[in-house]
Amino acid sequence: MKAVSYRDQEWLENLLADIWYQHFRDVEQNNDVVIIWAKRAKRRLGSIEIDGRDGHTSIIKVNRLFQDLEVPEYVIRATIVHEMTHYAHGFGSPHDKKQQHPHSGGVIRKEFAERGLVDLYLQQKRWLKDNWRNFLLERGML
Ligand SMILES: [Zn+2]
Repeated sequence: MKAVSYRDQEWLENLLADIWYQHFRDVEQNNDVVIIWAKRAKRRLGSIEIDGRDGHTSIIKVNRLFQDLEVPEYVIRATIVHEMTHYAHGFGSPHDKKQQHPHSGGVIRKEFAERGLVDLYLQQKRWLKDNWRNFLLERGML
């Protein structure tokens, strides 16, 4: 990483809190939810799962490459909205399952749309399409 990033653990937690408050206020938090920077990855931007150690905490993991300041903040926001959508749909969370598979039938895009976040969805897609491959190349990830 070239510059020291301000995107530390506290920043990530604040971002989740902000997104939850701004866009998911209707989604009850009925368990502990933690968010952490996870390993650098080419494809996996984020994930959510129930902690296997305690069986109830939701862990949202975000690709550590996103600490790099060349990645726009909206890419990270969109990743967290994606994982929060899974949480709301009962994947990696104690909520009732809204559908059988976490990504079936365009449910993610639909959720962004219903929350007025289509632009964010498209911005992320666009940035990844235009920049991700070079970003990975420059960092020896490809
Ligand atoms: Zn997903």
